[in-house]
Amino acid sequence: MGNYLIFFGPSIIRDARHRRDVTTRRRRFEMQTREAEVEALHRCAICGATEVSDPNLEFRVARNGEEYCIPHLSQAKAAT
Ligand SMILES: [Zn+2]
Repeated sequence: MGNYLIFFGPSIIRDARHRRDVTTRRRRFEMQTREAEVEALHRCAICGATEVSDPNLEFRVARNGEEYCIPHLSQAKAAT
């Protein structure tokens, strides 16, 4: 167990530092996206998410002409 800590200790510290950097970067990114939200091309008609507020989200236009994120696309189909 002692050897384990010596071997993995430095990388755990590095991970913790990295995680903090990511959090800082993400916070900065969120501030930028809030300003850029008006420029979003896609917006979910149900939850209002955009490709700017949720960069990992994909959007599709349903048959009713409205745009939805993938999680809500099925609800859009059910409604028509
Ligand atoms: Zn949605």
